[in-house]
Amino acid sequence: MIEEIREGFSATFGTEPEVISFAPGRVNIIGEHTDYNGGLVLPAAIRYGTYVAVSRAADGKIEVYSENAGWERWDAGVFERRGNFGDYLRGVLKFMEAPAEGLRAYIKSSLPVGSGLSSSAALEVSFALAIQKIFSLDISGIEIVRVCHRAESEFVGVRCGIMDQFVSFFAKKEHLILLDTQSLHHEYIPFPSSLTLAMVDTGIRRSLSSSRYNQRREECRRALEAVKKLFPDVENLSQVNEEMLLSTRPLMDEASFKRAMHVISENQRVSLLADFLRAGDLCMVEKIMKLAHQSLSEDFEVSLPDIDDLVEKISSLPFVYGARLTGAGFGGFLIVLLLKGREKELQRSINQPLLFSRPWSGAELLYSVP
Ligand code: ADP
Ligand code: MG
Repeated sequence: MIEEIREGFSATFGTEPEVISFAPGRVNIIGEHTDYNGGLVLPAAIRYGTYVAVSRAADGKIEVYSENAGWERWDAGVFERRGNFGDYLRGVLKFMEAPAEGLRAYIKSSLPVGSGLSSSAALEVSFALAIQKIFSLDISGIEIVRVCHRAESEFVGVRCGIMDQFVSFFAKKEHLILLDTQSLHHEYIPFPSSLTLAMVDTGIRRSLSSSRYNQRREECRRALEAVKKLFPDVENLSQVNEEMLLSTRPLMDEASFKRAMHVISENQRVSLLADFLRAGDLCMVEKIMKLAHQSLSEDFEVSLPDIDDLVEKISSLPFVYGARLTGAGFGGFLIVLLLKGREKELQRSINQPLLFSRPWSGAELLYSVP
C-alpha cells in the first residue's frame, strides 16, 4: 500500500512525498450515545483507514488532492471555513499551530466516507501525524487526539465526542479499548481469538441523522438539567443512577427520561460486556448485545423497523454472537460479532454489503525520508 500511495503522490505532484501516514477508522462494539454523556465506550479500530502523503513546498500554497473528494487549495496560514473536507485539515493545522508553510498532500481512504466508520477522525489523525513528523512538532499523542477533536468540533462544527480520534490514534491490535470518555482513563480488553468483527451496511443513508442526533443530544441535556434540580453536583448523565433518575422523573418530559434511561443502562452494559469478553463467556456477550440494541431501539429511539428486522435476522444466525446498530443511528452500519472463519457464511446469509476486520492498531507513520 505504501508504494501505491507514493505513486499516487508522484503522479499528482511530480515529486516524492516526505512522509506517509495511516490512521484507521473505528467501530464501536458497545456504548452508544454515551460518549457525549461522559460515559463508557468499547470501540476498536478497523483495518480500513486513511493514508496521507505529504511534502513541504516553498511557495506558501497548500494543495491537497483526495482520491475520495478531489482538489482543495488555499494559502498557508489562512484558516477559512469553506464547508468542505479542507476544513478538517485547516482545523488540524490551526490547532497544531503548525508553521505557515506550503504543503502538498495526497489522500486516499479505504473507508467508506460519511457512513459512520469515522473517516473524518481517520483523516484528521492521519494528517496530524504527518504534519507532526514533517515539522518535527513536539506534541504528545493525547495532544494530537485533542487537536483533531477540536478541529472537528470547533472548526468544522460537528458536535462529536472524543472517542473517534482517541481510538484512531491509540488503538491496539487484537484489543478493544474500554474508554471512559470523561476522564479518558482507558484499558485495553483482549478480543476473543475465536471471534471477528463484521460491519454490515444497512444501506439506509443517514440523511436526517444529524438533525435527529442533535435532537437526542438536546433531550439528554434536558434530562440532565432536570436531574440537577435535585442533584446539583451532577455533571453528566453517566454520574446518574437509576434511583436518582426515577426520583427526578416528574421534572422531565417522557422522551428525556427514556434517553437518560438508555445512557444509564448502556454504561452498565459496557462494563458487563468488557467483563464477559475477558471471561470468554460468549453466551452472555450475545445477551448483552441484544439488550443494547433493544435499548437503542426502544429507549433511545434511533433505530428503524427495517434495521430491527436486519438485526434480528443476523442475530439468529448460529455463528453470530451479537449484532446491533452502531453509530448515530437511523442507518449506517451494524456491528456484528461472529465466529472467525464464518465470514463467507454471513455474506451469503444477507444481501447487504459488509466489511470484516480484526481489531486493528492505531495511527502509524509508514514512511519518512531518511
Ligand atoms: P464518518 O466520519 O462517519 O465517515 P463524517 O460525516 O463524520 O462521517 O465525515 C465525513 C466527511 O469527512 C466527508 O464529508 C469529508 O468532508 C471528510 N472526509 C473523510 N474522509 C475523507 C477523504 N478520504 N478525503 C476527503 N475528505 C474526507
Ligand atoms: Mg465522523
